[in-house]
Amino acid sequence: MYFKRFLEFKTNNSDNSLIIFNNNKVIFDKDSNSLILKSLFLNIDYSKALIIGIGEDENSQYLAVDVSSCNFDLHGQGYTSLIETDIRNILTNSTSNVISIIGRAQHLLHWLKTSKYCGSCGSLNKFSSKEGAFYCSCSKEMIYPRISPCVIGIITKGDEILLARNKLFPEGMFSAIAGFVEASETLEETFEREVMEEVGLKIKNIEYFGNQPWPFPNQLMIAFKCDYDSGDIKVDGEEIVEANWFKPTNLPKIPPTTSISGQLIKSYLEDHLKLL
Ligand SMILES: [Zn+2]
Repeated sequence: MYFKRFLEFKTNNSDNSLIIFNNNKVIFDKDSNSLILKSLFLNIDYSKALIIGIGEDENSQYLAVDVSSCNFDLHGQGYTSLIETDIRNILTNSTSNVISIIGRAQHLLHWLKTSKYCGSCGSLNKFSSKEGAFYCSCSKEMIYPRISPCVIGIITKGDEILLARNKLFPEGMFSAIAGFVEASETLEETFEREVMEEVGLKIKNIEYFGNQPWPFPNQLMIAFKCDYDSGDIKVDGEEIVEANWFKPTNLPKIPPTTSISGQLIKSYLEDHLKLL
């Protein structure tokens, strides 16, 4: 599939491939084990749906569709084994290709919902098919999908790793430190600032690890590793409610390796279990 942003949608095109969201759940067909569904077998009131094109290939156009305002009947469709499932479930149990498609669908639907009006004059925005972007005639600015960079990282001290529990996490779940990049900050500065703000520690030897788009709703997670420098753990009590040093043999509940936080912790384990 080639990525493309577009709004034109022909309901009589039987080759449309849809990724359907209903009240923040995604519709999944158990028989075909797929969340890409053919419009030919679907009964949707398109006049009430939010629809945005996310890509195409030789055979099909791919569209993200939000049916939350449509009275979508799960059991009134040509597919007989449709279920609604949590998007995070899909993200933790799918191939990178599926994660990429659903992430793009979720991200662009959010962009569509939040780009209806011009932020300067309040008029309805128009859509430029050439640019694949919204605009308002009051300015020359095009409104592209917003991507919010967010730094995430782990801190090691000897054979121990610092993991923190966000107040939104389930009991017992710990992960890496994360936070949004501020205006005019480098990624390394963000990481240093977030670690100081959230757990009160100074860090050193910051090294890039990798990155991952995270569509809740539009983050790009950029991951780092670093070493502890100085200070005692002091959690901010607002975002982070608990943080501790853990040994590789005694880790708490951690995120799955489909997320970059899980991959960071796994790489720490691989490095340190070798040394035991
Ligand atoms: Zn305007």
